[in-house]
Amino acid sequence: MTTTEMPAVSECTVTGCSYNHDGCHAYAITISGTNGAADCGTFIPLSRKGGLEKVVAQVGACSRSDCRFNAELECTASGVRVGPGADAHPANCLTYSPV
Ligand code: SF4
Repeated sequence: MTTTEMPAVSECTVTGCSYNHDGCHAYAITISGTNGAADCGTFIPLSRKGGLEKVVAQVGACSRSDCRFNAELECTASGVRVGPGADAHPANCLTYSPV
């Protein structure tokens, strides 16, 4: 994988996010958090929907260096799923896999 290929957000079930209308419509998302579940840092629950018309969402950056798919703070998974997770944050990377 080259650094110009970003993993797709293959699924996002967080319907309360402004970028989610039949999938994630952000151009790219950032995964963050420092411990526990990996949070989607792009989640935003506004009163309006937004993002691109097409569903092309990718993982632009990920700070979870403790994940087995993370290399140099980028994600190397073939795709990630996002959904409600185990912690209080409403949107988590469900593909996160701590080493
Ligand atoms: S799979 Fe791992 S490296 Fe990829 S976005 Fe999720 S937490 Fe980050």
